Amino acid sequence: MSSTERFLCEAIALARDNIREGGRPFGAVVVRDGEVIARGVNEMHRTNDPTAHAELLAIRAAGQALGTLRLDGCAVYASGNPCPMCLATMRIAGVREVAYAYSNQDGEPYGLSTAAIYAELAKPFSEQSMKIDYVPVRPEGEADLYEAWRATSAK
Ligand SMILES: [Zn+2]
Repeated sequence: MSSTERFLCEAIALARDNIREGGRPFGAVVVRDGEVIARGVNEMHRTNDPTAHAELLAIRAAGQALGTLRLDGCAVYASGNPCPMCLATMRIAGVREVAYAYSNQDGEPYGLSTAAIYAELAKPFSEQSMKIDYVPVRPEGEADLYEAWRATSAK
């Protein structure tokens, strides 16, 4: 068994345990230098938090374990096809690679696919079903928000 398969089996085992806890069948591990540094399972059922996905919680735990925002050189192994939110989080954190065991196609018959969200997000804002507006409000008499941030961070 390859190390990829081994880490995916660990993610699947976490997902299986989560089913027993009443949760969704999703687990994930974050690996650096061949070692699991963080784990996560889908906790939406317990927290009513729509962002409590296995990969996202594993990434949060990894950041805490390493004491950094950056997960450069880390790999994520997930039981299921990462959703756009989790994939974007991996990109933002600098994750090097991701592998998953169950695809969106595998999940489709069970209502566990995020393919429709991927398809929506690939469209321009104006063509998406959610109303997305750019309204460039700049309160009068105040310094520009981003300029204020730059001024602070330049100190
Ligand atoms: Zn997700």
